[in-house]
Amino acid sequence: MKSDKIHVDTLVVGGGIAGMQASLDLANQGHQVALVEHSPSIGGMMIGLSKVFPTLDCCSCITTPKMAATAHHENIQLLTYCEVQSVTRNDDGFSVQVIQKPRYVIEDNCTGCRSCELVCPLDLPDVENEFGRTAHRVIYVPFTTAVPQKAIIDIDSCIFCGKCIKACPADCIDFTQTPQTLRVEARTIILATGFKVTPYDAKKEYGAGNLRNVIDAMMMERLLAPTGPYGRVLRPSDGKLPDSIAYVQCAGSRDETLGVPYCSRVCCMYAIKQAMLISGALPMADVTIYYMDIRTFGKGYEQFYQNAKAMGIEFVKGKVGRIVEDEDQNPIVRVELIDDNSRVAENKHDLVVLSVGMLPGYDTQPIYDVATAKDGFVQIPDSNVAPTVTTQEGIFATGTATGPMDIVDSIITAGAVAAEASAYMHLHSGSPAAPAAD
Ligand SMILES: Cc1cc2nc3c(=O)[nH]c(=O)nc-3n(C[C@H](O)[C@H](O)[C@H](O)COP(=O)(O)OP(=O)(O)OC[C@H]3O[C@@H](n4cnc5c(N)ncnc54)[C@H](O)[C@@H]3O)c2cc1C
Ligand code: SF4
Ligand code: SF4
Repeated sequence: MKSDKIHVDTLVVGGGIAGMQASLDLANQGHQVALVEHSPSIGGMMIGLSKVFPTLDCCSCITTPKMAATAHHENIQLLTYCEVQSVTRNDDGFSVQVIQKPRYVIEDNCTGCRSCELVCPLDLPDVENEFGRTAHRVIYVPFTTAVPQKAIIDIDSCIFCGKCIKACPADCIDFTQTPQTLRVEARTIILATGFKVTPYDAKKEYGAGNLRNVIDAMMMERLLAPTGPYGRVLRPSDGKLPDSIAYVQCAGSRDETLGVPYCSRVCCMYAIKQAMLISGALPMADVTIYYMDIRTFGKGYEQFYQNAKAMGIEFVKGKVGRIVEDEDQNPIVRVELIDDNSRVAENKHDLVVLSVGMLPGYDTQPIYDVATAKDGFVQIPDSNVAPTVTTQEGIFATGTATGPMDIVDSIITAGAVAAEASAYMHLHSGSPAAPAAD
């Protein structure tokens, strides 16, 4: 049972890879941490990815141990399915009001056995994790590797048939739950609220989301993931194995018309990664990447690009002006070929993937009163020398909450933010908070 008043050294907001790593680094130094995540599970975007560039390690295999370590650390209190409502500064740091949203399942008693799922008569499309390609019951554990493994009820869709009540061996269905208010007293706050992808239906030249065989890269991550909906890459309109797949780079970044003038940094690398994985999954398929520039900025990344070329992935320098479809819903890409005297070509593919960019995951300004930069990410005034320090004393930021970056950089800034917050608490005296909640 959660105490409704919690004293910690640091409140971390956001349980993606950056928030988890920052929490672990602080907790391992003896600091008490509360980690607030607004989804029912921690893991962030990373737990949904297939493999990671440039090593091609299985993403689930490297994320789940971090999720478990975070959940089981004696110095970390995990507050999932919670929202921060307000933050007030006081002499000791911050007093934070957190709302625990009702799961309609008693979290402490639920064992994640899923007996309730077996009897619940209604299915809902799994929009949160699988873009509606699979279904879950009205009562469900969010996904197989969710942490915590606790069920949740979509109360708006429930018909209150009571079957889950009869099936639950732990007697934990509770339709009377209401939002609960918790108060967290913290000396420092770390913002790790991450990113969301740019909308794939934003560009009407690319079909505005109406072309069934034009998908975005996150959807492709799920198709490629071992935990994905079909266990293979199938195109949406007819379930066919695609023979020809194209990527359109910068389909959401470096585009003033979308209000995203910046480079999202990860799209070139994830497109190359996905192209390699497709070549493994569908060895006979042709994969083409239409790009304006390929940016492979990290250690080992240029070699990764060269390996992809050697594998036969075709890189075409060109500006994609339009995507339409033929009568069989095959996407046709109209592209100005920059290396071919700007000749315009129309190329038919079975499936097109838009390499969408990164937008801030959450506007931290209203509640935390930290300045945000013009691009909407948390502003870091002195980014060269203090890359995790915000405009508010005692509030720090890490990972993609501060701007587009990959997993390696998110983890590096997580280590940096933990060191920065720890040093701040040391300088502003006082011993770490007492371990027990009161
Ligand atoms: C298609 C695609 C493929 C990618 N492939 C790779 C790859 O192969 N290798 C690589 O290095 N990088 C890859 N990336 C980038 C990688 O996903 C990010 O670098 C990484 O997930 C950033 O982690 P994060 O913790 O900063 O953010 P996130 O993963 O977004 O986590 C933020 C967390 O905060 C939570 N949150 C948000 N707002 C609130 C709030 N107000 N209160 C509480 N919680 C909140 C969210 O629910 C989420 O759990 C890829 C990205 C995309 C889009
Ligand atoms: S009461 Fe609601 S959640 Fe429970 S089994 Fe019936 S429909 Fe499903
Ligand atoms: S709610 Fe009950 S039946 Fe459902 S997963 Fe939890 S313990 Fe099992």
